[in-house]
Amino acid sequence: MNVLIDNTFKILAKVTNSKTGLLLRFNNFESSVISFVGGNPAMFEEFIQSLAHLHRSTGINYDSVEILPAYKSIVNELDVQSCFIQNVYSINEQNDSVYLVLFSDELNKFMHSDNDVYMSILNILSTQVKEFYYETLNKESLLPFANIKLDADTIVENWEENFNNLLQISNDLIFILDKEGCFLKVNDSGALLLDYSKRELFGKHFLELVPDEKNIKVSEAVSKMLQSDKVIKFTTNLKTKLDRLASFEITGRTIIRDGKIIGMLGIGNDISKIKKYEDELIKLKPKLKESQRLISLERARLWQQSSLIEELDRLKSEFVSNISHEFRTPLASIIGFSETIVSDPDLPEEMKKEFNRVILNEGKRLAKLINDVLDISNIEGGKIILNKISYDLVEMLKEIVELNRESALKKRITLEFEHPKDPILLEADKEKITQLFEALINNAIKFTNEDGRVKVLVNNLFKEVEIIISDTGIGISEKDLPYIFQKFYRVSRPGTEIPGTGIGLVFVKQMIDIHKGMISVQSEIGNGTTFVVKFLKSFKAKN
Ligand code: ADP
Repeated sequence: MNVLIDNTFKILAKVTNSKTGLLLRFNNFESSVISFVGGNPAMFEEFIQSLAHLHRSTGINYDSVEILPAYKSIVNELDVQSCFIQNVYSINEQNDSVYLVLFSDELNKFMHSDNDVYMSILNILSTQVKEFYYETLNKESLLPFANIKLDADTIVENWEENFNNLLQISNDLIFILDKEGCFLKVNDSGALLLDYSKRELFGKHFLELVPDEKNIKVSEAVSKMLQSDKVIKFTTNLKTKLDRLASFEITGRTIIRDGKIIGMLGIGNDISKIKKYEDELIKLKPKLKESQRLISLERARLWQQSSLIEELDRLKSEFVSNISHEFRTPLASIIGFSETIVSDPDLPEEMKKEFNRVILNEGKRLAKLINDVLDISNIEGGKIILNKISYDLVEMLKEIVELNRESALKKRITLEFEHPKDPILLEADKEKITQLFEALINNAIKFTNEDGRVKVLVNNLFKEVEIIISDTGIGISEKDLPYIFQKFYRVSRPGTEIPGTGIGLVFVKQMIDIHKGMISVQSEIGNGTTFVVKFLKSFKAKN
């Protein structure tokens, strides 16, 4: 029989002028080539696989499947220009079919001329295949296949029961509503999702389950569904019997018979958990944003800290070079003048006296510098001991002003001192307070150009005393102002190198702090600087 089919098939190929042809058998489990002419079937491996897939997914049973786009795209890949497919026989349309495929590069001729000839040969071939088919099916060797086929038939025959089982095992809410919108059927697990039994849901209107606020949205979706036979998707909350709210994504479609809507089908996917996670995510979003903000703040702070440390390092090394310079200048004078005195015994007495005075002043300057540095490290190490006494601040300031008059005069700076007549008592370490005002007045003179003015003003307030030291000097820029009380900070003024170490104001601030006073500063480049110091007055008797 096989030989017969083979021969008929070859004649058909010749008559139709087909260069290549295949006779194929497909069922749901396998595909096989019954016969072929022309090219090697291995060459058509992909084509056969795709055709088998097409057969299984669509159950094609057309006389010609040439029009199918999937098929077209496979054939285009092959080395033939046109083709023709004839379904010659099908024992079971769904599960088992035989296809005859003839490829021809002369389609027109094949399609129109000698139509009757090849149609009659096709019929013969069809009968042969049919007979061959029955023969082989009855053979023992093919029984397992026959069994599979029988099982498959049983499943298909009992599809309703199987389908119902499928509904029951589904975790979704699967339902049928009548044309009014009342439940006709619902699956067990679906009813359970709504805390109802199947029987309780029967006859209930779908909208009864929809909370009031969602009613309009759901009604709109349902009426949209009723206006077409399209599948409609919407999400809604459904009230369960226990008054819980469960979120569902519902996909529904109308059931139409004879042009009339007779009901609705729907599947509800319980998205309560997803909704809950989404809600939690929404709630977490601001927290996430806040954390991100905190992280970037912390990053900025760390960055600032590290650049501060770098800055401090830079300031420290600058300080070391400045302080060495500050030490070296008085030392050079001291050594220079003492050497002159020692090496020249004939030095006039007057000159000797003058040199000794310079040596003394420079020695004092050196001692003051060393004391300042020591004081700062003592305060920082918590080692400072205050020797507090009650004394007259006005009197003390008067002495400092007088001591600075000479240096002010050298620059033709007017040094003014304005104060209340009465004494103002302060309970403080007199030496330290003297040092701090000396530093402020010194700076005022140091940073004021010739012919300028420095004023020290004392205001007797209610519980406090306010001391204002203002000058008409070079001023401090807004950018530098916040840093002047920082250790080793020196305002850089390119071109005008005024000596200093950047510790004077640190000492001033620390002294004021440990005396629980206050200091503030205002300045404008080119217009001068004003320091305001405040202390609590003492009401004790003067020591
Ligand atoms: P320095 O030993 O460098 O004078 P200070 O701690 O006393 O150090 O002062 C810090 C910086 O503040 C100085 O470099 C100076 O530029 C600036 N400064 C202090 N007082 C004045 C002032 N009265 N006028 C202008 N600049 C001042």
